[in-house]
Amino acid sequence: MPDKTFLESVGRYFDAAAPHTGLPDGLLKQIKVCNSVYQIYFPVKIDGEVKVIEAYRAQHSHHRSPTKGGIRYSNHVNQEEVVALATLMSYKCAIVDVPFGGAKGGVRINPWEYTEADLEKITRRYTTELIRRKFIGPAIDVPAPDYGTGPREMAWIYDTYRSFHPDDINAAGCVTGKPVSQNGVRGRSEATGRGVFYGIREACNQQELMNKLGLTLGIEGKTMVVQGLGNVGSHTATISQDEGGVKIIGVSEVEGAIYNPEGLDIHDVIRHRGEHGSILSYPGAQSFGKDERRAVMEFECDILVPAALENQIDADNAHAVKAKIVAEAANGPVTADGSAILAERGIIVLPDIYLNAGGVTVSYFEWLKNLSHMRFGRLQKRFDERNYQRIVNQIEETTGKSISERDRQMIVHGADEIDLVRSGLEETMITGFEGIYAIYRDQEGVNDLRTAAFALAISKISNDYISLGIWP
Ligand code: NAD
Repeated sequence: MPDKTFLESVGRYFDAAAPHTGLPDGLLKQIKVCNSVYQIYFPVKIDGEVKVIEAYRAQHSHHRSPTKGGIRYSNHVNQEEVVALATLMSYKCAIVDVPFGGAKGGVRINPWEYTEADLEKITRRYTTELIRRKFIGPAIDVPAPDYGTGPREMAWIYDTYRSFHPDDINAAGCVTGKPVSQNGVRGRSEATGRGVFYGIREACNQQELMNKLGLTLGIEGKTMVVQGLGNVGSHTATISQDEGGVKIIGVSEVEGAIYNPEGLDIHDVIRHRGEHGSILSYPGAQSFGKDERRAVMEFECDILVPAALENQIDADNAHAVKAKIVAEAANGPVTADGSAILAERGIIVLPDIYLNAGGVTVSYFEWLKNLSHMRFGRLQKRFDERNYQRIVNQIEETTGKSISERDRQMIVHGADEIDLVRSGLEETMITGFEGIYAIYRDQEGVNDLRTAAFALAISKISNDYISLGIWP
């Protein structure tokens, strides 16, 4: 029977992993259900007319506080979608050891149809509704960007929250993904895409996995196709090209798709779209119009990165996927039926609940920064630099040789905030991969990385319930 909704797919993934955890049914049920959903309708005056806006905030699990998850602005937002996304957030946080429960918000609008002033009105009103019901706060529930939202919306949320709580010294921790000038953290915008890159790189470093796929070891030289050049897709593509030596050969956006097996310079493609408003007609590439944009899923490549929306690979097109690795940068881009077909065909899926966890990881760093009221690196940077200088001086004196000015600068450089954030993210993605891969490799009956990831998440959440005494 084909799966009907995104939520149903998430439920099926959970059910497939649950038996591998050895946990009792009652505890599994508590970990599976969504604890609370707040549905709101509120009026906003736009162009002299009152529009009634539908919005949600779902908190899937309170085993840790605060709850955490993005806010999505899209025409397709509905309760089931928000609950499915909140559910994924709980598992995601568990996998990467971020001490939050899962949550997600959604506003049912097409953000590209509204002016900036209208979006500000909607965002501030939505935030006010969340404040009223205590669905937001640095110790309660902390939103972040998702599809259709970004640092600008997060700054409005922060400002609205702050004006209702002028005496809350931790108010900046009520939302993450804020601009750096508004108590954000350096490296948050790129974090999800950078995390996706680290995750793919880890998978490509597994000899056994690469042998299975008939691919060479390492990410360098692999070909990649990316669906969606928004926040996640553009950073995944640029970082994979610049730091991984990956060849981007296809991309798609709302207006269509382009493909060039010889390689595309992703920076130039992004520049072209900025100038012409479209990726189509990019020189030297084959173009597919809006109606054919789903063809991107069938482009020949090593790594396919869906980075737009859910349900992009399903029972209809999973047979036609030619990639060896499907890297779920978006949430829920492959349905449960699609996933089963890909598994049968020997295609490796790097699951969303691990692969796109870089965003929430760096959001956690931002929240910590807000609670500590200090930029990362401020205490130790100069101290470290002085020490490194002394060591280099000593080595030069002892050996009688001197190093180049460029090398000296590299060695003595103390860590800035961006260095620490990237390093913390890299460590998190490597450790997360190791945890999932160990279950996939060693546990009998676990045949895919998604089941391994769900089993890991469920076990970690159950430990909280048991050790906190929430579960008898
Ligand atoms: P975004 O709004 O910045 O970008 C999405 C892009 O996809 C847009 O450029 C849009 O035009 C494009 N798009 C929409 N429909 C398309 C289609 N049919 N074909 C091709 N392109 C299409 O959103 P984002 O923040 O990059 O989020 C993308 C996905 O990643 C979502 O599933 C989101 O839940 C997930 N995600 C985002 C973050 C984050 O930090 N932003 C974190 C984790 C997961």
